[in-house]
Amino acid sequence: MGLTGIQIFKLLPKTNCGECGVPTCLAFAMNLAGGKAELEKCPYVSEEAKEKLSAESAPPIRPLTIGVGDYAVKVGGETVLFRHEKTFVNPPGFAAVVSTDEDDASVSGKMDRFKACQYDRVGLTLRAEMFVVQDNSGDAAKFTALAKKISDGTGASLILKSDKVDVLKAAAMDLKDKKPLLYAATPANVDALGELAKEVACPLAVKGDGSLDSVIALTEKLTGMGLKDLVIDTGNRELKKVFEDQVLIRRAALKDKFRPLGFPTIVMANEMASNLMEETIVAATFVAKYGALIAMSDFQPHALFPLFLERLNIYTDPQRPMTAEQGIYPINNPDENSPVLVTCNFSLTYFIVSGEIESSRIPSWLCVQDTEGLSVMTAWAAGKFSGESVGTFINKCGIKDKVKHKTVVIPGYAAGISGELEEELGGWTVTVGPREASQIPKFLKVWKA
Ligand code: SF4
Repeated sequence: MGLTGIQIFKLLPKTNCGECGVPTCLAFAMNLAGGKAELEKCPYVSEEAKEKLSAESAPPIRPLTIGVGDYAVKVGGETVLFRHEKTFVNPPGFAAVVSTDEDDASVSGKMDRFKACQYDRVGLTLRAEMFVVQDNSGDAAKFTALAKKISDGTGASLILKSDKVDVLKAAAMDLKDKKPLLYAATPANVDALGELAKEVACPLAVKGDGSLDSVIALTEKLTGMGLKDLVIDTGNRELKKVFEDQVLIRRAALKDKFRPLGFPTIVMANEMASNLMEETIVAATFVAKYGALIAMSDFQPHALFPLFLERLNIYTDPQRPMTAEQGIYPINNPDENSPVLVTCNFSLTYFIVSGEIESSRIPSWLCVQDTEGLSVMTAWAAGKFSGESVGTFINKCGIKDKVKHKTVVIPGYAAGISGELEEELGGWTVTVGPREASQIPKFLKVWKA
């Protein structure tokens, strides 16, 4: 927020009625300045003050959503330059370009790969979310049909890309309920596309001529027309220049609160590289610095998977450990005779342990206990993976109804809890498993209840 607590206080009613939840208007103003309160909590703010305060308290980078449903992509809303300062909040959306001059087989191949490139990690599904539907023919009917085919066949969010206003308009009118991003307003068509974006209530990209001044002229013009949901493409396609643009835009928005550049950006990685390897490196650069939408030429798993992991790493909150959900995880189709293993819910532990069990090909039950994201040793030292807590979890999680034996395997690092755990489980045997997950397959091969 740009205003200080005292400046905000001057705009409040100063009646100290307390209806906002704090005893005085000054306290409320301080909370507002610190981002700890919302203006709506005070029912007595004048319309004039509301307008001023709302503008001041708006996020420095406009948050907006492209698409609807499962594949909707929320971008913008970032508040820091560096992840470790707080956290990055809205991960970039990945798109691949499909154009009107591609044949059916090529289009179908991309649609199939879009659906196939999905991976489960840490209880999340890693996948691309969007298509850039590109007009290369100037044929409105063909462009609209392709966009509808992609939308109906995949559910993906869309970026509609055409140089021709009438072509873009035809598709936008047909698909406006899907909230596509319209790409892109330039000095030549900004009035027409501004009107179209208002009419269909869809976000609009602006494309500059390579200079930030040209971008500023476009965003100022469009915000003057009442549009708020804008996405910036500076028009540069050289890696070094685009990198500089991203940093300058982010700094101007956050440090200088410069509203004309306070919008998320789109990076056309497919137009910045001559092969998929280069394109992937370009995309990786802008996952880190600060692309909000990244377009690739195709959905290729060997290119996308590392990008998904990079995005996952950069956009997780560094102040909160990643966790797997507490519960019972069946691995390799276990039955009532399969071994039962227990571990903590630190996501890295979960993945390593579940991966080793999976690779052993031995059907097993993995019981994951909520240790607030702590690893086995840390959780044990903090009393969150004790005989009592593990015992309570095993007794309540339902695993006893799934097996007919009475044996549970605990991690080697938690060997110290075995006695207490046996007491908690009443009649069950506790087996101490290996310390290192890599030894689990060997251990399971000789396991007996
Ligand atoms: S509700 Fe409004 S007027 Fe009342 S104390 Fe809070 S800020 Fe002041």
